Amino acid sequence: MNTEHIAKYYTSIPGLADRFNRTAGQWGFQAASLEEYEAWKTSTRARLGELIGMTRMDMCDLRPELLESVQQENYRREKWLIQVEPDVWMPFYLLMPDGLQPGEKRPCMIAAHGHGTGGKLSPAGRTDIPALREPIAGAHLDYGVSFVQRGYIVLCPDARGFGERRESSGQGDEESVFLGSTCNQLNMMAISLGLSLTGMWTWDLTRLLDYIGTRQEIAQERIGCCGLSGGGLQTLWLAALDERVSCAVVSGYFYGYKDALLNLYNCSCNYVPRLWEAVDMGDIAALIAPRALLIETGDQDPLNGERGVDNVREQVEITAGAYRLTGAEDRFAHHIFAGGHVWNGGQTYKFVDRWLNE
Ligand SMILES: [Zn+2]
Repeated sequence: MNTEHIAKYYTSIPGLADRFNRTAGQWGFQAASLEEYEAWKTSTRARLGELIGMTRMDMCDLRPELLESVQQENYRREKWLIQVEPDVWMPFYLLMPDGLQPGEKRPCMIAAHGHGTGGKLSPAGRTDIPALREPIAGAHLDYGVSFVQRGYIVLCPDARGFGERRESSGQGDEESVFLGSTCNQLNMMAISLGLSLTGMWTWDLTRLLDYIGTRQEIAQERIGCCGLSGGGLQTLWLAALDERVSCAVVSGYFYGYKDALLNLYNCSCNYVPRLWEAVDMGDIAALIAPRALLIETGDQDPLNGERGVDNVREQVEITAGAYRLTGAEDRFAHHIFAGGHVWNGGQTYKFVDRWLNE
């Protein structure tokens, strides 16, 4: 043996867990009246926008450009590019259902992607790429296609660090890097500049909403956002901070921070300086009320943490308080399904149709 056996380790995470117990959630949802709720919402949005760095992002012209257009069965898949910050560009697929009549307006879904599945390629159902067939089939990742087949106009963006937005350290066509991301690296750079990847992702989606606002075919009061895992993170934050989103579906990304991100370790892009001092996930979702929100949880999803669904239900109960207060209980649903870290969709399409398409 070239080393010496260490029989006892002196670790630091238990101390962090203790600190969490003492200091977390200082700006959590608490309101006894609608007036208190509105005041909490306004101040918490401002504080969270500052924490994640949204307030330091730079505005610019979108300069939209159509890059390609491919006819698929029942819809056209276009690739677009917009400028989200000066000289920072975001490519996205726009899935346009066939058969729109002149002057017709359709509801719209942003379909945000998670980790390890090639960025926008998965929600856009690119099973023509062999490396994506198994991930898409196994976790039902082609939810963008499911929505366009139901008549929605769907936008599937690449989040920073994924797909065509990978930094040089993660570029290449080999399967592992093609499916991977440079989110870890980007978040490290960002937090050192007072930004965060959470903030940059949310900002980019607000710019996508700006672009959506320029499209005559989209019914502006019927815009939704959905996503699994990292796509759930993006959806949660966008819906919490931007009221242009009328309906949100957060799948596989809803649990208490302590169990899921402190006792468990996940990708760096989940971490924002001082965030846990401020809120937990249920508080962020409480900012979405009274707009429609469906949370989807796999009862075997290991990311829920050691206590499993209990760690989810505690957060759901926080959020439910905001929906009760606003009299919008019917716009909030929690679907627990038997399964793991996958998109289920069992209640999703009916729920979204109810709030965006009826
Ligand atoms: Zn990440």
